[in-house]
Amino acid sequence: MFFNLLKLVRGLIQVSVSEKYAREFEISLNSINLVRGKVISITFILMELIMIISSLILKKGDMLKPPYMYYGVMYVILIIAMIIYLIIYLNLEKNIPQNGTSIKITGIIFSITLVSWCVGISLIDQLSYGQIIVYVVAIMSVAVVPIFKPTELFIIYLISQALFIILLPYFQKSSEIVFGNIVNSTFFLISSWVISGIRYKNYIEEFNNKKIIEEKTYELNRVNKELEEANRKLEKLSKTDSLTGILNRLVFDKTMKEEWERCKESLEPLSLIMVDIDLFKLFNDNYGHQAGDDCIRQVAGALVASAKPFSDIVARYGGEEFVIILPRINKEKALELAEQLRKNVEGLAIPHAYSFISKYVTISLGVHTLIPSDESSIEKLIRTTDNALYQAKKKRNNVIYY
Ligand code: GH3
Ligand code: MG
Ligand code: MG
Repeated sequence: MFFNLLKLVRGLIQVSVSEKYAREFEISLNSINLVRGKVISITFILMELIMIISSLILKKGDMLKPPYMYYGVMYVILIIAMIIYLIIYLNLEKNIPQNGTSIKITGIIFSITLVSWCVGISLIDQLSYGQIIVYVVAIMSVAVVPIFKPTELFIIYLISQALFIILLPYFQKSSEIVFGNIVNSTFFLISSWVISGIRYKNYIEEFNNKKIIEEKTYELNRVNKELEEANRKLEKLSKTDSLTGILNRLVFDKTMKEEWERCKESLEPLSLIMVDIDLFKLFNDNYGHQAGDDCIRQVAGALVASAKPFSDIVARYGGEEFVIILPRINKEKALELAEQLRKNVEGLAIPHAYSFISKYVTISLGVHTLIPSDESSIEKLIRTTDNALYQAKKKRNNVIYY
């Protein structure tokens, strides 16, 4: 039994917040106690005003005689004290984080004032009857309204109880009642201290849990962001040709199907351009694979830039071949663009000393246009465009064929 009690008391004292959040915890505790202090002082000012007015009306002349006079003096003292505390609280409220210690000390002195005042009322009560109900209510209220550390509440209770025990015999003549009142108040004091301790512990646990949730949420958000970023990169990577950075064959296949359906529905033309670098094997063999790669990259860049006004779908089809999807672009415009592409690539002026067509790297292009329908197919469009490219090649390069 004794050990269990000891364990309970130790449990109350031992619980704490982690070092990292100690200051935040103090600020949150002080904010709560400050608001409650303010509300209590306002409540007491109003309550005591009502008490004074009602006493004046009901007791009239008796108010100047004891014990009513004592009560009257006590009411006035409390009003003055509460007004002073309210002013202090309103000032401390201006900077809660900085006024931490002052808020804490004010809270303790405020509570000592209130409980001592209640001790005073209970002592006056002894003159007419032996009750200590006002003091007992004060003890319980201090345990459940503010949030005090067990040590802080212990100081408050120690001072008020010492005051009560020392002064009680002067007001209560019956030693039996004195003994009973001391036993009762001590019992209430201990129970209230335990209740307050449990509340304090709960408050810390709640605070700790809130912090754990905050930390986990933060971590989760961070991981989610990283995951989103990784997904974005992965998605981009899955669409990109690693050598040139332009779209890859996969995107071409997918987009081709989509645009085919769209143009088929709206009965609009769909054009396709296939591009092949001329005599690239010769380039590669003579300038080296590295230079070949650079050349493919440059040609890809020129194609993307030139096709921009007509299409975003310029993809590497394989090796030194590219494709351009041109939705809603008719044959004339497609041929116009093809000519533009041919000129622009030659305009890059990448030297190709081993080409018998030009001094520079050139391309050949196959173009085809159709309005998608059930009679045709994507495969047929690709095959026809490829055939046109084949024809262009047969004509011996740097040409466009439809
Ligand atoms: P044509 O004018 O008939 O198109 O002749 P070509 O030499 O361009 O055509 P061919 O198909 O004979 O040769 C294509 C060459 O492209 C073969 C290969 O060495 C080269 N090639 C394909 N992919 C790459 C690549 O990723 N990097 C490099 N550097 N070369 C590549
Ligand atoms: Mg080729
Ligand atoms: Mg070629």
